[in-house]
Amino acid sequence: MPCERLSALREALRERFPDMALRERVPLSECTTLRLGGPADLMAEPSSPEELRLTLAMAAEAGVPVMVLGRGSNVLFRDGGFRGLIVRVGRAMSAASVSGERITAQAGAALMSLSALAQRSGLAGLAFACGIPGTIGGGLCMNAGAYGGELKQVTALVRGCTMAGEPFECAGEDCGFGYRTSRIKREGLIVTEAVLRLSPGDPEEIQAEMQRLLAARSEKQPLDLPSAGSTFKRPSQGYAAQLIDECGLKGLRVGGAEVSRKHAGFLVSRGGTAADFEQLMAQVADIVQREKGIRLEPEVIIAGEN
Ligand SMILES: Cc1cc2nc3c(=O)[nH]c(=O)nc-3n(C[C@H](O)[C@H](O)[C@H](O)COP(=O)(O)OP(=O)(O)OC[C@H]3O[C@@H](n4cnc5c(N)ncnc54)[C@H](O)[C@@H]3O)c2cc1C
Repeated sequence: MPCERLSALREALRERFPDMALRERVPLSECTTLRLGGPADLMAEPSSPEELRLTLAMAAEAGVPVMVLGRGSNVLFRDGGFRGLIVRVGRAMSAASVSGERITAQAGAALMSLSALAQRSGLAGLAFACGIPGTIGGGLCMNAGAYGGELKQVTALVRGCTMAGEPFECAGEDCGFGYRTSRIKREGLIVTEAVLRLSPGDPEEIQAEMQRLLAARSEKQPLDLPSAGSTFKRPSQGYAAQLIDECGLKGLRVGGAEVSRKHAGFLVSRGGTAADFEQLMAQVADIVQREKGIRLEPEVIIAGEN
C-alpha cells in the first residue's frame, strides 16, 4: 500500500478528530492476549459509534486496508505486523446501561464486565460469558460461547456499519449466528452497539454460577500463559483438545509456541514468534489429520504480514 495514502489518512483523521487516540507503529503484541505480532502502521481508538463509523468511511475512501480489533483475544498477528489502519474498539467505547431486562452496550464493552453488570442487576443469561476475555463486538462477530451459553441466545439487536461506514441494524435472529460464526463475521460487518435481552434472576444464584464457571476455567485452562483460548474449532466429530491429546501432542513445541500440557486445545506462547505459533498450529493440524483423519480448522483469526 502506498505510503502517501496512509499519511493522507493520518492527517485527515487528526484534523477531523483531534481528540481521538491515533498512534503510529504500534506493536500488535501489546494489543493481543497472545502477545505476538509486529507493528501496525496506524492505530485509531474511536470513542463513539459515530467516530468509529466515520473513521471506517474515511479509510475506505482513502483506500487504506483496515482491520477492527477488540481485545485481541482471538487473533494471531504475524511478525511483520499490519500494513494499514487498525481500529481498536475498546475501553474508549465501552459504555453500557441497563433498562428493565435489557442491557445496551457499546461494542468495546468487555464481556466480563457485562456479565458482572447483569449479575448485579439481577439479570440471568450472561453468566456463561464471565470468563471470556473479549469485547461484546468481537464476541458477536465470533458468537462467543461457553458452558452451554452463547451470545446468540441473548442478542436482541445489533447496530453497526459496513467497512465503508454505511450504517446497518439487525435483529438478533437475523444475525446468522452459528458455531463461532455470524453474519457479522461472514459479511465483514462492524458492530458499534448491541442490545442484549436477559431474564430476571437471583443475583446470589447468578454469582454462584459465575464462581463455579470461573473455577472450572482456572482448573482446566492455562490462564497463566499467553493464548488466544481454544486454537481450533470443535470438529464435527469429537473435541479438538481430546484429538490433540490422543495424538500425544501435549507439550509439543515449535520455538516459543507450545501445546499446553494443562489443556491440549490451547496453544500457548512462551515468547518466540508468531511464525512459531502458526507453524505449531499447522503441525498439530497435520498430525491430527494423519492419525485421526479429521481436519482441525483454526478458531483463531490469523492476520497481517509475514
Ligand atoms: C484465555 C481465553 C479464554 C477464552 N475463552 C473463550 C470461550 O470460552 N468462548 C469463546 O467463544 N471464546 C473464548 N476465547 C476467545 C475470545 O475471547 C473470543 O472469541 C472473544 O469474543 C473475542 O473478542 P475480542 O474483543 O478479543 O475480539 P478480537 O480478538 O479483537 O477479534 C476477533 C474477531 O472479531 C472481529 N471484531 C472485533 N471487534 C469487532 C467489532 N466491533 N465488530 C465486528 N467485528 C469485530 C475482529 O476483526 C476479529 O475478526 C478465549 C480467549 C482466551 C485468551
